[in-house]
Amino acid sequence: MRPIPTRARALTAAVAVSVVAGGGAVAMANSASAAAGCRVNYSVNQWSTGFTGNVTVTNLGDPISGGWRLTWTWPGNQTITQGWSSTITQSGTSVTATNPSWSNSLATGATANFGFNANYSGTNTAPASFSLNGTVCTGTVPTGGPSSPPPSSPSNPPPSSPSTSPSTSTGPVGPRVDNPYAGARGYVNPEWKAKAESVSGGNRVSNNPTAVWMDRIAAINGSSDSSSNGAMGMRAHLDAALTQGAGYIQFVIYNLPGRDCAALASNGELGVNDLPRYKTEYIDPIAAIQADAKYRSLRIINIVEIDSLPNLITNVGGQAGATATCDTMKANGGYVQGIGYALNKLGALANTYNYVDAAHHGWIGWDSNFNPTADIMLQAAQASGNVRNVHGFITNTANYSALRETNFNIGTSVGGTSVRQSKWVDWNQYVDELTFAQAFRTRLVSIGFDSGIGMLIDTSRNGWGGSARPTGPSSSTNVDTYVNESRIDRRIHAGNWCNQSGAGLGERPTAAPASGIDAYVWVKPPGESDGSSKLIPNNEGKGFDQMCDPAYAGNARNGNSMSGALADAPISGAWFSAQFAQLMQNAYPPLS
Ligand code: BGC
Repeated sequence: MRPIPTRARALTAAVAVSVVAGGGAVAMANSASAAAGCRVNYSVNQWSTGFTGNVTVTNLGDPISGGWRLTWTWPGNQTITQGWSSTITQSGTSVTATNPSWSNSLATGATANFGFNANYSGTNTAPASFSLNGTVCTGTVPTGGPSSPPPSSPSNPPPSSPSTSPSTSTGPVGPRVDNPYAGARGYVNPEWKAKAESVSGGNRVSNNPTAVWMDRIAAINGSSDSSSNGAMGMRAHLDAALTQGAGYIQFVIYNLPGRDCAALASNGELGVNDLPRYKTEYIDPIAAIQADAKYRSLRIINIVEIDSLPNLITNVGGQAGATATCDTMKANGGYVQGIGYALNKLGALANTYNYVDAAHHGWIGWDSNFNPTADIMLQAAQASGNVRNVHGFITNTANYSALRETNFNIGTSVGGTSVRQSKWVDWNQYVDELTFAQAFRTRLVSIGFDSGIGMLIDTSRNGWGGSARPTGPSSSTNVDTYVNESRIDRRIHAGNWCNQSGAGLGERPTAAPASGIDAYVWVKPPGESDGSSKLIPNNEGKGFDQMCDPAYAGNARNGNSMSGALADAPISGAWFSAQFAQLMQNAYPPLS
């Protein structure tokens, strides 16, 4: 787990342009017997000399098997330099994108999504038309089309339609509720509860719902030999939830190929090219269990893949935080396609709720990261076949950002200087999680997510109570002193993320606490380590990240500050009693 803040992603402000292909041309069947038709959504984020293109093609005709091919002609001098999630070739102005090897069929109503980077000069006019297997995409099918009618508009998308194989759902049981947390009791993980109660005073909080992390394939069936999971697998947790009479249960889906590409503490078991294993050995079995009719009374909440998509924005392409693994995961489409697959499979069930991880304000709160992160979220959602497979987003997962900075806000000036200019805020557009989560939600809806999406905020460790908590605003007229004396978040630097010294339990899990927020949740189970303070050999793929070493003096990503980590921590996910004791001591609201 590893949120990396990066100020000022070097990028020219992007202009989003979007078109839906259609218009005029007559759709032709591509074989004598098959009805053909298609629709293309084409959008770009462009700067003065280049752009990133995002293409979603929907097959409106009869099912296509054995491969698909989307072709178009550039009206200008656009030149593709790199593509992902399809094989793209360009000859002169003619472009051909063919299916990726893992997905050569397109069912009726199914979509395929891919992207590319390109250069241009002059005007970046969109292609006038696209053709799927030779058929011009007009957005309609000629009379005699397929038996299941195509969706009529992007804002009224089709029911979930896999871009690969059909879903394992046994069928919907009714509409989803708007907020699955509202009016429902959360499942208490007995394995976490026992760990919490092993520490003196732990019984004051051990009845709170925490998420169950499916952090490796073996966790699905339960495996006591891992750092965080016990003997209970997914079915055992679901059965226990039924026994508890719980209304909702929370799982974290966390096992992407090349996981946690910008850090080492939570690298996982799957290599960068293991997308096929992610699908068949991880997501498919999870979807099959969740689809069991026995669990239909439960609202099953899936927190989907922590830290992955934002890493593809801030830690790629020669930026300060770039890593080779993040570059690889961007280029091979493993994160976007993996998340698309997970959203599709898990979104096909009527009682499951997908919340995608959206980092935190100290990572993507800068303008240069904010919109591009929202865009890649949309790309992943579109790769699932339907943006409605996303019920909402979560911020601050396993992080420590304060929920509210009550002593100042982004508009505060000190002696005529904006707090944005302080070293702590560092030109960020947000100073806390609540304002960030609400603004990010607005942005996501504006680019095409459902207007009903709700946000979650992980408040498991962002309380910052105890004796170091400021009791009011500073009286200093120096902006740095003012912010440092006033801020609720007591970290050394907002980029510090590992086992933060001085942290406390935050708001207890609460449904519908603020506008746009479905719940405050405890997704990171408090007391489970973020990473070891020294290298500890293990068989879970977890490395040692210096940000977990209290003696580490930092790097460009955290302003060359001390790590602020607690000493003597075990590997990520393992129980860390001393941390749990401190979290209780510094809880805010305080524990009685
Ligand atoms: C670890 C997981 C663990 C989770 C919750 C992550 O940092 O990598 O193994 O399940 O934290 O504690």
